Amino acid sequence: MMLFVMLCILSPRLLRPWLWRSSDKRKRDETIKVKILTTRREEEAHLHVPLARFVVDCLFLCELIERLTLTDKEDVTYIAGIRLGSDRVLTRLIPVDLDSSSVAHANANPVSCAEVMIRLVEADLPLVAMAHSHPGTHPESTRPSPVDLRYMSTLEANGAKIIGLIVNRGGCVRFFSAAMPFEVFIQGNEFKRVSKHDHVYQLAP
Ligand SMILES: [Zn+2]
Repeated sequence: MMLFVMLCILSPRLLRPWLWRSSDKRKRDETIKVKILTTRREEEAHLHVPLARFVVDCLFLCELIERLTLTDKEDVTYIAGIRLGSDRVLTRLIPVDLDSSSVAHANANPVSCAEVMIRLVEADLPLVAMAHSHPGTHPESTRPSPVDLRYMSTLEANGAKIIGLIVNRGGCVRFFSAAMPFEVFIQGNEFKRVSKHDHVYQLAP
């Protein structure tokens, strides 16, 4: 060792490759450390992605139920709103024309839907929810049908953060998605939660 040090002092050329290899190894170690930290940060960021939260006031929900249950047929409306970070505030009912409807179904007119979407894009207003009515008065009658879930699934697959709402004539409203996790906040005290797992609420008597 002593001989090696002396040789290095006498001839720096001997030391250079060793130093170079050492510095190269340090760089590789640093690169690995940075990669590990970056991966951890990405994982943490992924874990802390806030849930989409849908915010609405109780009088808006009363108006929604009233509008969608004017007749005994199923009805549909779009809902525009305000985007605030991960919050979506439901603010405005945007009715669409129907091609046909009965007690158990409603077909929105595609041209009317397209016109609504163009109007919202022009006004720079996000579509935040789609609502329709189901027959019945029991909270269970607001359960989404396979067609409802398939439709929401298509929207979510295209990246839309839109919530579905189903109301009935018993003053019930259900918030639902196909797979998107979400929270609901209802301002006001006129609705009580029916099921804490299903986001079903009912107008208090
Ligand atoms: Zn339905």
